[in-house]
Amino acid sequence: MPTPLAEPYWVCWNQSLAERMQLPLVANADILGVMAGTALFQGHEPIAQKYAGHQFGGWNPGLGDGRGLLLGEWLDPSGVYWEMHLKGAGKTPYSRFGDGRAVLRSSIREFLGSEALHGLGAPTTRALALAGSTEAVYRETLETGATLMRVASSHIRFGHFEWLAHRQDIDQLKALTAFTIKHHFPQCQDNADPIVSLLRAVIEQTAQMIAYWMAYGFVHGVMNTDNMSIVGETFDYGPYAFLDQTRPNAVYNHTDAEGRYAFNQQPSVAFWNLQRLAQALAPLTDSQLLAAAVSDFDQCHRKHYYELLNQRLGGSSERPIEPELLDEWLALLAAEGKDFHTPFRRLANLPLTEWPGLKDDFIDAPRFAAWCARILTQTEADETERQRQMLASNPVTVARSHHLQAVIDAAQTGNFGPLESFFAALQDPFTERAEWARWHQPPAAAAPAPILSC
Ligand code: AMP
Ligand code: MG
Ligand code: MG
Repeated sequence: MPTPLAEPYWVCWNQSLAERMQLPLVANADILGVMAGTALFQGHEPIAQKYAGHQFGGWNPGLGDGRGLLLGEWLDPSGVYWEMHLKGAGKTPYSRFGDGRAVLRSSIREFLGSEALHGLGAPTTRALALAGSTEAVYRETLETGATLMRVASSHIRFGHFEWLAHRQDIDQLKALTAFTIKHHFPQCQDNADPIVSLLRAVIEQTAQMIAYWMAYGFVHGVMNTDNMSIVGETFDYGPYAFLDQTRPNAVYNHTDAEGRYAFNQQPSVAFWNLQRLAQALAPLTDSQLLAAAVSDFDQCHRKHYYELLNQRLGGSSERPIEPELLDEWLALLAAEGKDFHTPFRRLANLPLTEWPGLKDDFIDAPRFAAWCARILTQTEADETERQRQMLASNPVTVARSHHLQAVIDAAQTGNFGPLESFFAALQDPFTERAEWARWHQPPAAAAPAPILSC
């Protein structure tokens, strides 16, 4: 059972998610009771899940829900199941030395970060609600406690399979695999080898997720296998960041001294993590077939990645821009230390005829001019359609670290206005609005990258 949280108060209720789930559009006192751990929704029996995982490449069999509880499911009237997980619900048998709590700062970061990726169309868990508390929680400094209601179609992680394989509990491994296929990948059921088919489906969904991260400058920060969702949704928001400056090797997690989870390492880490999943499934089927499936990851990821970049740079789907040109654009931004996001939006806003004029924004103007001359022959021919597509795929609002921090600073003094405003802007990231002008801004100077903790 959750451990009650002292003096709870509402911070945020995700009305658009509530609408999709067909829950009350306005948060009420009953739901605040659930957030505070003093009440449960009808029919819910909370569980702390046991799992294992590879953290920073090292095997750890001792993991589990240490500060969150899977409360239960919600079956909406249209027949969709939503799992509800209360993060910060207090100690569990897997808390180890932790206090089982979440703080307001990191809960706001998760709330906004997940909604930002969702707004971009990326697969992710979402946050339905956020409640604060006066309860003191110690991190690097004294902070206050909070709970976050995470909603996902599944909370099954790669680490669940790894745990059962490690214990050589083949019956349970079979049962978990059968459950996963039945509830989340029913299309695999009738395949000659449902296990290999399941792995292929997970690879496909993971590749799609990573493609969004790479195309939109998102750094997860802790890609341990216990933080990899089996349904390929971005999972467990900790020291994540969206890039400001285009730095391919950017690292934000202060515990990641070696840069294992740097921005540009994410596809290869996903591949490594999928190998761990394949290894865990190996007792159930032909491991050669599993290994062959994993080897397709890179190709699969690149396909999705270039599709997204093609869209962002105004290519058509019938005659896409050649990948080399898509790569060259990002290489140019990196070489010149440019912001990752605003140059895309700049191109979206300008008529094609004005693109060549941007060359003076670049130190290596001839390099830009050469790129521009080539891409102009490959973009969508219908100018109206080209601009519509680019404005709908290049965000003007990004969950940048300095904005998150400004929202957190205000919230910690009891002012939730900036949170509401940034939240609304992130849910509609392609729309430019005067009232959201501050959220459209990159950081003033080339500020050093923030260092973040979990
Ligand atoms: P993470 O790095 O967020 O994936 O967390 C790694 C593990 O530590 C997970 O099993 C968490 O449940 C656990 N954990 C993280 N923070 C806390 C906390 N404050 N109290 C108890 N367990 C925690
Ligand atoms: Mg985790
Ligand atoms: Mg975490």
